[in-house]
Amino acid sequence: MTHADAQALDRADPLAPFRDRFSIPQGTIYLDGNSLGALPRSVAARTAKVVSEEWGRDLITSWNRHDWIDLPRRVGARIAPLIGAEPGSVVVADSTSLNIFKLLAVAVGRSDRRVIQTETGNFPTDIYIAGGLATLTGHEVRVDDLAVIRDDVAVVLVTEVNYRTGARHDMKALTARAHAAGATVIWDLCHSAGAFRVDLAGAGADYAIGCGYKYLNGGPGAPAFAYVAPRHLPGLRTPLSGWLGHAAPFAFAPDYQPAEGTDALRVGTPPVISMSALDAALEAFDGVDLAAVRAKADALFDVFAGEVGARCPEFELLTPRDAGSRGTQVSLRHPEAYAIMQALIARGVIGDFRQPDIMRFGLTPLYLRFEDVFRAAEILAEVMATRAWDRDAFKRKAKVV
Ligand SMILES: *Cc1c(COP(=O)(O)O)cnc(C)c1O
Repeated sequence: MTHADAQALDRADPLAPFRDRFSIPQGTIYLDGNSLGALPRSVAARTAKVVSEEWGRDLITSWNRHDWIDLPRRVGARIAPLIGAEPGSVVVADSTSLNIFKLLAVAVGRSDRRVIQTETGNFPTDIYIAGGLATLTGHEVRVDDLAVIRDDVAVVLVTEVNYRTGARHDMKALTARAHAAGATVIWDLCHSAGAFRVDLAGAGADYAIGCGYKYLNGGPGAPAFAYVAPRHLPGLRTPLSGWLGHAAPFAFAPDYQPAEGTDALRVGTPPVISMSALDAALEAFDGVDLAAVRAKADALFDVFAGEVGARCPEFELLTPRDAGSRGTQVSLRHPEAYAIMQALIARGVIGDFRQPDIMRFGLTPLYLRFEDVFRAAEILAEVMATRAWDRDAFKRKAKVV
């Protein structure tokens, strides 16, 4: 492929106009939207308005006047179509880690079985939170390859797309297998939501959680979402029984009575500024066909993985090539992955590194061009050919890697 070929793909790309919805710094090729999504243009104006008008001018009256109080439900309703969720089944609250805790507690509380099963290589917070909950409840946490789900399993906690490799589970098949074993499943959609169309309802999913700051572009530390299938909503109650999850918070009653529906997953006062930022960020998906997003991500994958494969045979492609078996990131292995990534970042190509030897490149079709991924492969090849990575400065690990 040549540079001109990549530009031709951009001219034919129906999603090309959506790049204007984002603010991408000149000269930067941003391949880390799987970790922190780029800034949608709609966010700056909205947060400025929330700060100066809603908070600054209207002060506490904004809880009603600007409906701050129902932001968790409203923003949840915006996410629902992206993940194939039924109306009223998604709420935005807290962080992914906290939502894992809440939903795990719900799921184990509804079963008399003693095991929480999760996957070796799952994102650490998922495994840590399961372990933390188990210290309170006495459950066993079983960490394995999920090949077998035994009849002692209450709940399976699994991430659809693996953060290191980019490999993707078959949500429908695994959910059916868990159900056949008498277990429920919590799907972690951190690397799915906004990357491609998830079909929770179609998969018969029970529960799900996911991040607001990755493919949903809600900004650093954006609040997360939680999904509960409508059949599991009645009687929903978590041990984090905060006042805003109460049926009547402003009755200030002495006894806890959970709210109806997903409101029972709310805990405390929502972070209005960051939740408004996420709300505005989701406008970037207005009118977007997620099937087209996925198709472009696959085409970007082919260009990037193809060019890297042809130019740099020393890299091992860790991500499955088969589009049905992966998400939308490219993971490459190399013993000097960390230093190579720092050299790339110094040249304006931003991806990231994961232990021990993985470089990750996120493909986000709403703001990436074919020209970008082609150029990124060229720059990577140049970094390898010149050994530009082989400098002490690129080998010193920062606090956040
Ligand atoms: C990013 C990520 C998280 C992050 O959880 P936070 O509570 O937002 O820090 C959890 N699980 C997976 C699979 C992730 O990729």
